[in-house]
Amino acid sequence: MKISNPKLNEAKIMMIDDEPLNMEVVQSFLEEDGYSQFVLEHRSEQAMETLRTAHPDLLLLDLVMPEKDGFEILSEIREDEELSHLPVIILTSASDTESKLRVLDLGATDLLGKPVDPSELKLRVRNTLAAKAYIDQLTYYDAITGLPNRQMFSQQLDWAAKKASRYQEKIALLVIAIDKFARINNALGHQIGDETLRHVSQIITGCIRKSDILSSNHDSEVMVQNLYQTDNGSFSLVLERITQADHAAAVAQRILEATSKPLNILDTEIYISLSIGIAMLPSDASDAQTLLREALSAKDHAKQQGGGRILFASETVNDNYRRKLSLENRLHKALEKNQLLLHYQPKVNINTNQIVGTEALIRWEDTEKGMIPPFEFIPLAEETGLIVPIGEWVLNEACRQLAQWQLLGQKHLSVNVNVSAKQFIADDFLSVVEKAILNTGISPKHLTLELTESMIMDDIDRNISLMSRLREKGIKISIDDFGTGYSSLSYLSKLPADELKIDRSFVMDLPQRADSRALVTAIVYLSRKFNLKTVAEGVETKEELAFLKEKHCDVYQGFLFSRPLPARKLYEAFLSKKHRENLSS
Ligand code: C2E
Ligand code: MG
Ligand code: MG
Repeated sequence: MKISNPKLNEAKIMMIDDEPLNMEVVQSFLEEDGYSQFVLEHRSEQAMETLRTAHPDLLLLDLVMPEKDGFEILSEIREDEELSHLPVIILTSASDTESKLRVLDLGATDLLGKPVDPSELKLRVRNTLAAKAYIDQLTYYDAITGLPNRQMFSQQLDWAAKKASRYQEKIALLVIAIDKFARINNALGHQIGDETLRHVSQIITGCIRKSDILSSNHDSEVMVQNLYQTDNGSFSLVLERITQADHAAAVAQRILEATSKPLNILDTEIYISLSIGIAMLPSDASDAQTLLREALSAKDHAKQQGGGRILFASETVNDNYRRKLSLENRLHKALEKNQLLLHYQPKVNINTNQIVGTEALIRWEDTEKGMIPPFEFIPLAEETGLIVPIGEWVLNEACRQLAQWQLLGQKHLSVNVNVSAKQFIADDFLSVVEKAILNTGISPKHLTLELTESMIMDDIDRNISLMSRLREKGIKISIDDFGTGYSSLSYLSKLPADELKIDRSFVMDLPQRADSRALVTAIVYLSRKFNLKTVAEGVETKEELAFLKEKHCDVYQGFLFSRPLPARKLYEAFLSKKHRENLSS
């Protein structure tokens, strides 16, 4: 018969006996019951060391052994801080009452006569493990939320800190406290208080499970997250193997947002806020105790400042975080208040010097700081996910502008739109693009989406299939910043694309630099073989242009022809009838 509780099957059972054969017999009896984890030790003098490394759930101990006997080992176990609660069943052939009393006095959990009777053995082992599991549940888990409790937290934080120091990894500790929790208990009763705790613990668990928290880096794959209920109304979250404080902030921010809506607790609407203190190891502390103290004190500061906020133990981290938060808030408003705009840079046919298209480049006109360039806010927008609505706006605005130019007579003009990784991985990307085309009435062949190599390589099968579907709709695909990623040139044959943009860094020193010369020559040559148009970015000098022309590059962009310009200026300077007349006269 198998034992009913599957958890018990996973128990680790250790045996100490100078006679290996005895242990093998006992093991085979227990295996019949479904147990599979055994540690056998026949050298009694080694017993304590093996115990400390093996961490068993139960010990079966022989009494009579040379070197060190069972009495000695048992008393050492009971005096050991870590092992004192370990259940120990003594296996003995001694039948005298005195030695039985003596082992019970020393703290044995149970006694079994040798030779062991299999059914007796199985019964004792099962009962002892069940009792241990029950006590563990009471000792290590919170009765209300079911989360591991402060006792478990202390042990595991200590362990995590030691491990991190040894492997030179980072840990973030977040202490998350419900503001004025005592008041909820006092005013609304403990039933609502308990239910609130359960709700909040579920919300936090939901937040840390979401895999896209840290999508722009690889932390999410290696980071270990553990949540504990450490005090009434407060939780501790340990993020192991984290690489940057930013990521802890992102997790905390998500938790704050998720708890900002009213909770419906037993038909009562409850508003709560959280104070979150964050400390990092090794920058704020080198051991578990200090780490906890730092995180607790950051949490207290957050409470003193009115709650509902995140504070780091370190002032520098706080400063960076605040600066970012303010930038993020301003960017949010900028999107709402239409302070984002597009500039357009012409794409020029290298042989005819005619404009064949434009690239839309985002700008942010801040009331205080003036024009903010994309590299200062695109990374933040990506991190916070704001890039998704921003990108959608860019798409619609660029298509709208193109439709207008086409109405004014530029029938063959096209527009390139930069797409960010976050937008591209969203399930509805294709329909967002189709909507922009439909709403503005442009033809899909006049829209080119710029993707970067690294973006495509992230999930190559899915992305190639999406690129093919976009192209089936007539939309064009361009590979931006080509040459800066890690892919090999041989990938070019696999990519469903129409155009390839040679990164500015390779154009910059043409024709002086030999490696750039070789690279650009190879890229243009291969692109032609695979029917891709080549566009050189960032052309600033006549020498660069001459070299590209000689190598049969198709199109160029750069300050040499024009900087990115507001739509109106671009039109007046290059697209209007007046301008074309000027050219031909
Ligand atoms: P990108 O797509 O590679 O754009 C080319 C960048 O090179 C633009 O910078 C452009 O102003 C600049 N540039 C063009 N010609 C020259 C030149 O001759 N010399 C030099 N030194 N620079 C030149 P910008 O506008 O600051 O944009 C930077 C990057 O920000 C873009 O690189 C693109 O990755 C991103 N970006 C811009 N707009 C958007 C957008 O709407 N959505 C997304 N997701 N990213 C955008
Ligand atoms: Mg681009
Ligand atoms: Mg580029």
